Amino acid sequence: MKINIKRRIAQTISLVVLNLNFWCVIALQPYCLPVMHCDACLLSFFGCPVGVVSRAVAFHAVPWMTIGIFLTAGVLVGRFFCGWVCPAGFVQDLLYKIPSPKFHIPRPLDMVKYIFLVVAVVAVPYFISRDTHWFYCNYCPVGTLEVALPDMIRYRDFAMDYWLVVRFSVVALVFILAVLSSRSFCRTMCPIGAMIAVFNRVTSLFRIKIKSDKCIRCSKCDKACPMDVQVMSTQDEKRGINKRSECIGCLTCEQACPVKAIDNNSRAIFRC
Ligand code: SF4
Ligand code: SF4
Repeated sequence: MKINIKRRIAQTISLVVLNLNFWCVIALQPYCLPVMHCDACLLSFFGCPVGVVSRAVAFHAVPWMTIGIFLTAGVLVGRFFCGWVCPAGFVQDLLYKIPSPKFHIPRPLDMVKYIFLVVAVVAVPYFISRDTHWFYCNYCPVGTLEVALPDMIRYRDFAMDYWLVVRFSVVALVFILAVLSSRSFCRTMCPIGAMIAVFNRVTSLFRIKIKSDKCIRCSKCDKACPMDVQVMSTQDEKRGINKRSECIGCLTCEQACPVKAIDNNSRAIFRC
């Protein structure tokens, strides 16, 4: 089975499973089996790490468990979560398939997501306000779609106040940008992507690498990469493609390579 089909299957399963609360609300079922959700569902097994961090630092506490989970997952698999699991990434992948003029986001703008992480997720709750209206979560497009929208449907309350207008405007902006530029939200706005990107450099379990003796320097990998990683230039580096902070391990470059010069070690790992 081709890599992109495997990835689409994994992304579809995670879209459904990670949003079980949403589907139950839509179907007006009295039960839910949530896995990871914002605080809208008290039965969630996990909470979004952005909300957990914001609330912890607002009370000047250290979210040790979140830090531990991120350290472990980040060191083991880096940003593979973004490429294979995250529903927001999947929705962006689908939106980018809509025919339209496309543009590349300038690479320096990749740094903007770190500003969101430091300022909106940590500094504002810690130094300025415990009022959640000022938290990143309240403008997060994922939170709007997974929490605000299901709540509006559940309570049949579609009145739009100022905050909801702002929230849905952010969703509209993110959707439009996703149509025009590949993974624009992941690259510039997602604090979770920023948290995990830091660990890409020390990721130890997976490795994606170019065999430089096979590469014909056609640059098809560069053109195929949804995160605009300069894949071809990594062939002289020992550390591998997925050590680049923007690599989400999607393996699109591997599939695009006409001479199979890109390889990953997942088969070797899963054989163990
Ligand atoms: S470098 Fe390859 S594996 Fe990494 S994001 Fe780009 S296409 Fe995906
Ligand atoms: S697509 Fe393959 S052959 Fe072409 S530059 Fe990339 S690694 Fe080299």
